[in-house]
Amino acid sequence: MSSQATATAGSYEFKAETRQLLDIVINSLYSSKEIFLRELISNSSDALDRLRFEALTSPELMEKGEILEIRIEADTDARTLSIIDNGIGMSRQEVIDNLGTIAKSGTREVLEQLEKGDKGRDSIAQLIGQFGVGFYSSFIVADKVTVVARRAGEETATRWESDGGGSFEIGDDSRFLRGTTVTLHLKPADPDNGLDDFADHYVFQNVVKRYSDFIPYPIRTKIPLQEPELDSEGKPIPGKTTSKIEEVTLNSMKPIWTRPADEVKDEEYTEFYRHISHDWSEPLDRLSARAEGRIEYQALLFLPGKAPFDLYYRDQNIGLQLYVKRVMIMDRCEALLPTWLRFVKGVVDSADLQLNLSREMLQQDRHINQMRKWITRKVLDHLKEMRTTDEEKYLKFWNEFGSVIKEGVSGDPDNQKRIVPLLLFNSSADSTKLTDLAGYLERMKEDQEEIFYLSGENRTAVESSPHLEAFAARGVEVLYLVDAIDEILVQALAEWEGKKLRSAASGEVDLGAKEDNDEADKELEEKKEEYKSLLEALQGKLGDQVKEVRLSSRLTTSPSCLVGEEGDISPQLERLLRQTEGAMEVPSQKRVLELNAKHEVMTKLQQRFAEDGEDPALDDYAELLLGYALLAEGSDLPDPSKFNRLLAELMGRGL
Ligand code: ADP
Ligand code: MG
Repeated sequence: MSSQATATAGSYEFKAETRQLLDIVINSLYSSKEIFLRELISNSSDALDRLRFEALTSPELMEKGEILEIRIEADTDARTLSIIDNGIGMSRQEVIDNLGTIAKSGTREVLEQLEKGDKGRDSIAQLIGQFGVGFYSSFIVADKVTVVARRAGEETATRWESDGGGSFEIGDDSRFLRGTTVTLHLKPADPDNGLDDFADHYVFQNVVKRYSDFIPYPIRTKIPLQEPELDSEGKPIPGKTTSKIEEVTLNSMKPIWTRPADEVKDEEYTEFYRHISHDWSEPLDRLSARAEGRIEYQALLFLPGKAPFDLYYRDQNIGLQLYVKRVMIMDRCEALLPTWLRFVKGVVDSADLQLNLSREMLQQDRHINQMRKWITRKVLDHLKEMRTTDEEKYLKFWNEFGSVIKEGVSGDPDNQKRIVPLLLFNSSADSTKLTDLAGYLERMKEDQEEIFYLSGENRTAVESSPHLEAFAARGVEVLYLVDAIDEILVQALAEWEGKKLRSAASGEVDLGAKEDNDEADKELEEKKEEYKSLLEALQGKLGDQVKEVRLSSRLTTSPSCLVGEEGDISPQLERLLRQTEGAMEVPSQKRVLELNAKHEVMTKLQQRFAEDGEDPALDDYAELLLGYALLAEGSDLPDPSKFNRLLAELMGRGL
């Protein structure tokens, strides 16, 4: 039979990644079997939202006065449980694509993470959580799943069926109603292993109440009731009952943000977060805010516990749900958040917005802009508060989203002053703790005029850089910038509280008290005179690789290092610009090779040079000193094999 994704009936293979994911889901999510119901109801709710949106422009998709709802039907004899909605439904192609052949973006990343190590079950659940397995969670409780769907506006229905093995079957169905029915053929109940009898209405009623109470469509079911039989006077006849079927709605449908906060359980907030974010894990924090006055709106916002895989992808799902007077009008309204807060999830409900806003109009809409500013301010205030009241939580937040927040420093000048106090950096002052700029300013030397930083790949690389030697010797603190975005941040910020930000790897360093400096300057001047011809000779050898060769005031233990001129872009930024998609050709900037006149290599080299004049080995020493400087700062050597050969020869000569 056909195995490619054409819309014919027959047997189809699951996409390999989907298959793998299914295995993991079925085998790792033991502890929370009942979540399948939340996922299926969530999908039905999404499908009803979509129908409502499409019906705004195509009213013929819905009957007049039709009630949008989700139904649960249980058959205790057949051991099936069906979740039925009259939402948007699916075409045959959509069924094939959505339920089996198209792996979601991020699947591969999850699987790679899982393969990397022998992760515990918790972290598997967490990884899957970030990704969300949604529909596939059905196979935790079912050994066969049947989906029947008819898309709004289409005549025919499609049936999808699978036992969660390698394939699924596609066929026709006579379903008459628009929407989707998911029927689970339940595995035998096994309460000892947490597998409850989900066909039992008490069981699923509880699950719905726990996870899906806020769903804005009625979740209805028929419940069999035993009522006492009544006599002709309307009195119960002892020992006699009649059975009756009653139709009930299981959820309150109350928008969670309209309920008084002290009446909503944490668990309910968490479930609401999961529904809107499609993230299974728990949020780190939430905040609610209300603006009253000329225009009214309220927001319920969440900070996720983990950064999603697609935080840096362009096509990620960002934005807040936008409601107007309790009715959702947009699922992901990007215009409500600045990009540097794109990880925030939640809802905003406004009383004054037009209902028929198009996506294009949103960006310019005055109310929306006002709301974005207000939301931004609320989140910033909340983070500021969190920093002072719950350091641990703030650090968790910072580890996940700090580098996105940093984008705001360059991207949102209006809020720069509020963002900067939230920034945390690695620093030479403390190897175990991050610091903010206020902490740095407090610890600054009395006559220190600048905030020093050094960029690099990671803390270890930066820490061992020769550029820091003079700073360490004089006890001057240096911030370690180890995030790619940091370079852009320091360029955009330039100064803080009147102190310039200055790279420890550029320009001549001038640290310490005035008198000490005068002393050191004098010494350096004398050395410069002494080393003049050697420096010139080295400059001659390296002229096409460095701008200048000079003596250094920043080195104490290393023989050499490379520095930029003040205002040059750093090698890190150069690398970043090169990696940027569609970047222009970035010319490589020549830098200055600084040499340590007090280092043995230099004193001996000078001695030999003074006695014998130009020496054939000087070429090699020049290359080695440059290579040393490149390696020390974590840069790549232009010709590593040559460096190695020179080093080996030198060792040979030395022995
Ligand atoms: P997600 O909900 O995160 O997209 P799921 O695995 O839960 O992932 O569902 C996959 C897709 O299947 C959905 O995006 C949707 O397109 C489709 N789908 C699932 N259930 C329904 C439904 N009841 N009605 C219409 N489409 C559905
Ligand atoms: Mg889903």
